[in-house]
Amino acid sequence: MNNRLDQIPVKEVNGVGARKVEELHAVGIFTVKDLIEYFPFRYEDYRQKPLGDVKDGDKATVQAKIAGIPVVQRFGKKTKLSCKMLADYSMFTAVWFNRNYLKEQLEPDREIILTGKWDGRRLQMNVTQSEFPDRGTIRSGSLQPVYSIGGDLTQNSLRKAIASALDQYGDALEEVLPQELVSKYELMPRPQAIRLLHQPGDLAEGQEARKRMVYEELFLFQLKLQAYRSLNRDRRDGVLHTTPNAVIREFVRSLPFELTDAQKNVELEILKDMRSEACMNRLLQGDVGSGKTAVAAIALFTSVRSGFQGALMVPTEILAEQHSRSLTTMFEPFGITVGLLTSSVTGRKRKDLLAALQMGLIDILVGTHALIQDEVNFRSLGLVVTDEQHRFGVNQRSVLRRKGYNPDVLTMTATPIPRTLAITAFGDMDVSTIAERPKGRVPIETYWVKQEMMERVLGFIRREVSQGRQAYMICPLIEESEKLDVQNAIDLHTQMSQALPDYRVGLLHGRMNAAEKEETMRQFYAGETHLLVSTTVVEVGVDVPNATLMVIMDADRFGLSQLHQLRGRVGRGEHASYCVLIADPKSELGRQRMGVMTDTNDGFEVSRRDLELRGPGDFFGTKQSGLPEFKVADMVADFKVLEQARDDAAKLVEDPFFWTSPTYEHLRGNLEKEEAFRGELID
Ligand code: ADP
Ligand code: MG
Repeated sequence: MNNRLDQIPVKEVNGVGARKVEELHAVGIFTVKDLIEYFPFRYEDYRQKPLGDVKDGDKATVQAKIAGIPVVQRFGKKTKLSCKMLADYSMFTAVWFNRNYLKEQLEPDREIILTGKWDGRRLQMNVTQSEFPDRGTIRSGSLQPVYSIGGDLTQNSLRKAIASALDQYGDALEEVLPQELVSKYELMPRPQAIRLLHQPGDLAEGQEARKRMVYEELFLFQLKLQAYRSLNRDRRDGVLHTTPNAVIREFVRSLPFELTDAQKNVELEILKDMRSEACMNRLLQGDVGSGKTAVAAIALFTSVRSGFQGALMVPTEILAEQHSRSLTTMFEPFGITVGLLTSSVTGRKRKDLLAALQMGLIDILVGTHALIQDEVNFRSLGLVVTDEQHRFGVNQRSVLRRKGYNPDVLTMTATPIPRTLAITAFGDMDVSTIAERPKGRVPIETYWVKQEMMERVLGFIRREVSQGRQAYMICPLIEESEKLDVQNAIDLHTQMSQALPDYRVGLLHGRMNAAEKEETMRQFYAGETHLLVSTTVVEVGVDVPNATLMVIMDADRFGLSQLHQLRGRVGRGEHASYCVLIADPKSELGRQRMGVMTDTNDGFEVSRRDLELRGPGDFFGTKQSGLPEFKVADMVADFKVLEQARDDAAKLVEDPFFWTSPTYEHLRGNLEKEEAFRGELID
């Protein structure tokens, strides 16, 4: 039976009329497949119990007989309908709010099934659902699925639509997992699992069904990533870099430091990818200050020496400027040209830059996201490095591909990702890790102090700057209000200028224009200002090795990864460095965060604890995190299954028969809907 449920619109389902179609569309259900795979997130227990077994405060369903005359009371606009009932040889009162229309139906001696909250002391049930067995029942006596609904769609109408779809199309459901996996894990067959997930006989059945669908979901997700990886590894139309080792070594020798072993190792992994015709898709993770930029510089150098252009994409203008400055210093002696493209490069300058880029007069382009946009055309792009928050989604990679480049892609991140998330969000990438910091770095000491200690903190700042060092002071974060953040920064700058009359205090915030920011940063890099008061615009990447003190005001307002990033602005040179968190946290969570920061300096540990405190949904904070939204699986709770599914998927794609199997057909069917994958899999 080749019944593609994803091609049958929901309006074909019996009982789904035009209005319901609209309601279903509003929650993202368009096809029969969408509807059938719209799974409940919990069940309501409408199984009947004897009244004697119901505890005070419980929600329960009981069958009763109407044993009195209904009474309606009015309180302003509200009404209360009450009626005596008899069940289990005892009398009680059933109460409905704002349902006085039921009054007519409450005829003495009629049987009724009531669901509601039981008040054992007043012998009263506050009824939420009621129905009459003589009219046929739909709910009572079973577990009822509870779906996430929205708009005008109600639970009951969705339940009916799903039940009807299962009746009509249930037979068309097919197994999609390879049989050996179904047997290996003793999974429920797919058609049965889908039915029972919606309509379990009991909770155990619901759990078995869920287990099956969780595995399927995670497996197919991992299979997609592994299939993508495998195709990518096998393709031969990537950029082939040919720069010999001797040439690269010459550049490495010109750096002002010796590479750490960890840097050398990841460099080898990267060069191996670059020297193959496959497209590199590699994630480079390393804690703040571990020296990722140098690694990227070597890769960019390699690309240019092989006759290609390189791009370095960073999240902020400040960082773009910093990188273009430091790369220029590194590359100038080798005759390699570096261009800078941000949104503040405009007009004539922009036109010239883009023209030079297209002619191949610029070897390396550093910039913000503007860099991969339409008007930007390289002559021969060989390598794209993205720093910090950016990660190319599969679709952005296909944008590059459609532009005619097949560059190698290296993604750097300083937010070490706990394994759980790494194999989910980055499962399609190869991962290199720098687990070691450059030699001679003294660990940053972190203190947490209360607001009232401000005087001593000022003393601390004076001590550091009087010894020739520099300090940052980060303003409190006002949720959602850049304007207030800026005001805070301005106020704090004034206070600090007064408190430290003998030193120069700089100010940096997001409302300054690019030239002002650049000048402020220049003064700080040059050591002309001693203290830099700033909003979080310095959060990522800023590199001033002479800065040794980071003071964060109202630190409990910041997230852990943000705090760790901010702390990473110091400890970047040979001087002992400090981070002072000023906070009077009002919540337990705030106190715990301060605890994590003072306990550990290790970014991997910080992010592990962060995940623990917040849960995965919050961890990345944004939708663009690259984390998929699963229908039934829970990334953390089902982590063991996720790992298993990943291994199974990796093994399966090695099997040549996989590519002609129904499982691959199913995957491909799903992928066809995802524009993102179109460019990757079907060319
Ligand atoms: P991140 O990994 O946070 O991007 P950077 O690449 O900015 O780190 O490096 C942090 C600092 O350490 C920079 O000042 C850089 O020049 C310096 N650095 C990088 N590698 C080494 C090394 N092997 N030895 C000494 N200093 C290094
Ligand atoms: Mg960096």
